Amino acid sequence: MTVQSLDTIQSYHAHIYFESAEQRDVAAVLREEIAQRFSVLIGSWHEAPIGPHVRPMYQVAFSIVEFPKFVPWLMINRHGLAVLVHPNTGYPRRDHTSNATWLGEKLDIIADPLPEHETEPEAAIVPDTFPVIEP
Ligand code: ZN
Repeated sequence: MTVQSLDTIQSYHAHIYFESAEQRDVAAVLREEIAQRFSVLIGSWHEAPIGPHVRPMYQVAFSIVEFPKFVPWLMINRHGLAVLVHPNTGYPRRDHTSNATWLGEKLDIIADPLPEHETEPEAAIVPDTFPVIEP
């Protein structure tokens, strides 16, 4: 067994899933609530499953500095939606599986196509939100 240093975590993603039209509406509200409170990079809507994800979703990329506020806030404000939180350590397969944590329902991840080997570091996160509310 090896012990990984915290330094291996470059950033995090939260993937916010929805399925029904009602859940999409809830996800849209949550998206706005996040944008008002956190300095993060919110990705585009994926209306169909993409990559390892088995449900429609959008991604929120955030720095290690945001984690201690953003993730606890999501725990109590995810409005019943399933959320995957994973670190970016440069190893996509393990980041989406053994390194990942789930809020709410744990969904399947299609891990086979994800690289098992080390990949290029994630691009630096440039937030696209302008928080106005203290979480
Ligand atoms: Zn991700």
